[in-house]
Amino acid sequence: MKVLYVCSELYPFLKTGGLADVSAGLPPALAALGCEVRMVLPAFPGVASHATARGAPAALPCATPWGQAPELPPANITLGELSGWHTPVYLLHAPTLFDRTGNPYLGPDGTDWSDNAQRFAALGWAAACLGQGLDAHWVPDIIHCHDWHTALAPAYVQAFRDQGLRTPATVFSIHNLAYQGLFPYETFSKLGLPDTYFGIHGLEYFGQVSYMKAALQFSDRITTVSPSYAREILTEEQGCGLDGLLRERAHLLSGILNGVDYQLWDPANDPLLPKPFDAKRLAGKSAVKKALQKKLGLAVRPDALVFGVVSRLTAQKGLHLLPQVLESLVQNGGQLALLGEGDAALEQALREAAIQYPGQVGIRIGYDETTAHTVLGGSDVVLVPSAFEPCGLTQLYGLRYGTLPLVRRVGGLADTVVDCTTANHAAKTATGFVFDALSAEALHAALLRAFALHQDSKTWKTVQRRGMALQFDWMASARHYCDLFHALRP
Ligand code: ADP
Repeated sequence: MKVLYVCSELYPFLKTGGLADVSAGLPPALAALGCEVRMVLPAFPGVASHATARGAPAALPCATPWGQAPELPPANITLGELSGWHTPVYLLHAPTLFDRTGNPYLGPDGTDWSDNAQRFAALGWAAACLGQGLDAHWVPDIIHCHDWHTALAPAYVQAFRDQGLRTPATVFSIHNLAYQGLFPYETFSKLGLPDTYFGIHGLEYFGQVSYMKAALQFSDRITTVSPSYAREILTEEQGCGLDGLLRERAHLLSGILNGVDYQLWDPANDPLLPKPFDAKRLAGKSAVKKALQKKLGLAVRPDALVFGVVSRLTAQKGLHLLPQVLESLVQNGGQLALLGEGDAALEQALREAAIQYPGQVGIRIGYDETTAHTVLGGSDVVLVPSAFEPCGLTQLYGLRYGTLPLVRRVGGLADTVVDCTTANHAAKTATGFVFDALSAEALHAALLRAFALHQDSKTWKTVQRRGMALQFDWMASARHYCDLFHALRP
């Protein structure tokens, strides 16, 4: 089974969020199950600088059997290897589109690059062309696409199929339905798709062009990254305007929980932690907590209940509730250790909180892998109060690091954290704290439950150790994807 994995980020070369972690974890697990996996991604500088070419460049075709190809500057793909990475990678070279440092989607001013439509049409087109034999030595059976950046690939594949050509099957995985790749109507004529593809049964979304809709419309199967999110996106509340189409195609949709790469996220063997620890040697965790308190300017108090956050600061993550509960958190003897970046107003509110509660609220605005590991390893509780959460990874990392997740009951958070209720304690399943309403009151009540449990250090340790023993490894997820691929290409 040859699988072409199409994505825009890959840890450790380029990462803006969980998508990069998935690209690092899933392809090797698929390969371990016998799939022959190759990836295609844009030659962003962070990726291209680690690549060694293994083949000659192949130019993307400028014409299609149905007419005009997408309007692109000269672009080619080259098969190569990335240092320390075992999956072969096709890099899509189009320097005027991709040779830009920093965030792959946003310019230095924090807004979308104005040519994103063209940049990610190129990625979809490259994937579809590989599906038609652009590399004659390797033609995929499956094209597996991830999020809107890759979402035109299934549309181009369908257009080839409409011509009676044999094509790979397409699977599209939604990692976040809120980001859709919406562009003005004029974009469509430059995409090189058949004219009939603009319309209610195509890419049109209220007069605009929606890349996400293209994938939902034309993929052979749709997956998303947790069973709960798969159900939630069928509702008006969480469907981001695409719930109607998703309900129509619900028979093709399934939820497959993300995994964790325990090579990178294991406290017993984590080079980014100042001290290793595991369920039997929790003393090491106290040392990490001390290092975290020092690093973020918190008072070094072993008894303080430290709440950690590692997150993009966007409305999705529910962190606007935090400032409202900080007074109580601090009065109860707790501390906040937060690493994140994003929304300017929230960044400012958090900076002000750090000034208001010196030594008790420690904030690091920015993106930093080492600090992320220190926060997740050194905190007692990891806060994830998301408004919606397709899967969420930091609660899974928290579980492995003995850092009890405190989460809202939504999406993948609901699927992976079991609330510390009396019944769940008795059933020996409790692993964290779960609350329902997206409100400061509900978050506050959950915080108070965490403080209460922390008084009972024996039960706290039992819950910690239970979470640390859980396995959310990639092999389990990969098996589900493999079953799906085999069902499509028996
Ligand atoms: P999302 O993909 O919505 O951002 P996830 O929980 O799925 O959320 O994944 C977030 C990933 O990004 C985790 O690996 C987390 O550690 C990492 N991360 C988020 N913010 C930062 C940051 N400021 N610095 C370092 N890593 C971060």
